Amino acid sequence: MAEESKSSLDALSALCKRRGFIYHSSEIYGGMPGFWDYGPLGCELKANVKQAWWQFTVRGREDVAGLDATIIMHPKIWKASGHLDTFADPMTMCKDCKKLMRADQVKDIYADQKKKPQPKVAGSDFFCPYCGGELTEPKPFNLMFKTVVGPIDDPSNVAYLRPETAQAIFAQFLNVTATSRMAVPYGIAQMGKSFRNEVTPRNYTFRSREFEQMELEFFIRPDEAVELQYGHVVTLADNPDLNGPVQDDWGWEVWHKYWVEQRKKFLNAVGLPTEKFVEYWQKPDELAHYARACVDIEYDFPFGRQELEGIAARSDFDLSQHQLHSKVPQTVFDDPLKQACKKLTDDDKAAFIAKTQAEWLDWKQKAASAKAGKEVVFSDEEKADIAAKAKVFCENLFDGKYVPHVIEPSAGVDRLMLALLCEAYEEQKLTDEKGKEDIRTVLHFNPKVAPVKVAIFPLIKKDEAQYKLARDIFTKLQKKVNCQWDVSGAIGRRYRRQDEAGTPWCITVDEQSTKDGTFTVRERDSMEQRRMSYGEFLAMMYEALEF
Ligand code: ATP
Repeated sequence: MAEESKSSLDALSALCKRRGFIYHSSEIYGGMPGFWDYGPLGCELKANVKQAWWQFTVRGREDVAGLDATIIMHPKIWKASGHLDTFADPMTMCKDCKKLMRADQVKDIYADQKKKPQPKVAGSDFFCPYCGGELTEPKPFNLMFKTVVGPIDDPSNVAYLRPETAQAIFAQFLNVTATSRMAVPYGIAQMGKSFRNEVTPRNYTFRSREFEQMELEFFIRPDEAVELQYGHVVTLADNPDLNGPVQDDWGWEVWHKYWVEQRKKFLNAVGLPTEKFVEYWQKPDELAHYARACVDIEYDFPFGRQELEGIAARSDFDLSQHQLHSKVPQTVFDDPLKQACKKLTDDDKAAFIAKTQAEWLDWKQKAASAKAGKEVVFSDEEKADIAAKAKVFCENLFDGKYVPHVIEPSAGVDRLMLALLCEAYEEQKLTDEKGKEDIRTVLHFNPKVAPVKVAIFPLIKKDEAQYKLARDIFTKLQKKVNCQWDVSGAIGRRYRRQDEAGTPWCITVDEQSTKDGTFTVRERDSMEQRRMSYGEFLAMMYEALEF
C-alpha cells in the first residue's frame, strides 16, 4: 500500500471515529479484529444506503419481491449450497511467530509492512511477512461461524451463522413464488447480516467478519424455454435496448448484462461516478463450474482496486442443488410455454432434443477445458449421461416445467459505505479574504445517502424571533427527514461541522426571515447561499432525494 493512500485511509478513519461514523467494536476491551460498530452518523448512512437499494431494487420495480429470513437456518442448506464442503480460504501459519494469515494475501500483507523482513530460510519466496519465518503448507479453512442450537452442546445440534443472504432466497423460492403471485422472470431480494470467519480481516471495514449484504436472485427461464416459446432467443449480438423495459424473449446473457447495467446505474445514483469503477469479467478458468458468467464491479479504494460487488449468472445450480438435497421439486409451471409446445410435432421435439444435447455437450466440454487449461474430451459414458439429462430437461420443458435459472447481483452494504466515504472525503485548502489559509474537511455525499439532510440554525441565538422561527422550521422538517439543530459557535463553525458530516444543506434564519419567512440555504459543495421560501426549499430537497 502506498504511503499516500494509507494516509488518506488513516485520515478518513480518524474522521469516521471523531464524527461518529465508525468505531471499533468492543473498543473499551481492546476491540475485536474484523468487527465494527456504526455510530450516530454511520447508522444513518447505513440506513440510507439500504433504503436506496431497496427502493431501486424492490419497490421501484414490479418484478421483484422482498424477503427477510433468519440468520441461522437448517444446516442442510449449507450442505446443498456447497458451503460446508468448499467455502474455504487457504490458510497458512508462521512456524516462528505463529501468526495466521490467508496464503493468497501473504504478498499484500508484506507490501503493507513498514519494516520488511528478510526470509529466515535463504532463497524462500513464501515466508512470513511479519517476521520472515517459515510458513506452513496452506490448508483450506472453512469460513463459516459455528454455533449450537438448543441446550445440548452436541455435534448433532451444530448450526451455522449464514455466510451469505442468498441461500435463504433459494430455500424460500417456492413460498415466495406462491404468495407473491409473480411468475418467472422475477426476482427475490434480501438484505441482512452475513458472517464469515475471515482469516485476515483487513483494510478497515472492507473485509469484516460480520457485515451486511444486499442480494437479489433474479429468476429467469432457461434459454431453451425462451426458444420454444418465442422461436428465438435475444442475445447481446442482437443489440437489445438495456435501458428500456425488460423483454420476455431475452436470453440469460442479456439478463446478466442488464443487471450489470442496473447495478452501475444504482452506484451512480448513490454517488459513485462511473469512471471510478471497472467491470472485471471473470475468465472462463476463473468461473465456478456452474456459472455462465460473473462480473465483479471493482472500485479504486485508497488501498487498491478491489471488488465492490459481483453479478453472476449461476444457471439453475442453486435451485437444483436444493431440489436434490431436500427432495422437494423446485420446478415452476409455465403455462404459456406448455401451450407453445403443444404446437410441436414429434419430429420438432426430437430435433429440439438433439440440438439441446449437442449444445450442452459443447458448453460443458468448453467449460471443463477452460478449467483444465487444455482440451478435455468427455468419455462415451460422460457423453451419454449429459445426453440423458438434456433429454429429461427437454421433455419437462414440453410439459411447461423447468427449474429457473438465476442472475445474482450481490453487494456488500459495508463495502459500499466504505466506497462512498472514500469518494466523498476531501480536504480543501481555502484562503479567506485576508489571505489566511485553512483546511475544510468535507464529505461530498449524494443527498440521497447523506446521514443528515439539513441543519437549521438561528443566526443570532439570543434573538427570540429568529430562534422561534428556526425552531419551527426544524420541527416541521424533522417530521420529513433527518435534521440537526445547532446554535453553538459562530455560523462559519456551524457550517464546518456540517461539512464534516456531509450535510448537503444548512438553513440559517436571520433578521429578514422574521419579516418575510424566507431563509438562506447554504449549499455544501459550492458553499453558495441562496434565499428561499420554505416551499421552494422543500421542492428542491425532494427533487434531490428522489430516485
Ligand atoms: P471477496 O473476494 O472480497 O472475499 P467474495 O467474492 O467472496 O468477496 P461474495 O461471496 O460474492 O464475495 O459476496 C458478495 C459481496 O458481499 C461482495 O462483493 C462484498 O461486497 C460483500 N462481502 C463479502 N465478503 C465480505 C466481507 N468479509 N466483509 C465485507 N463485505 C463482504
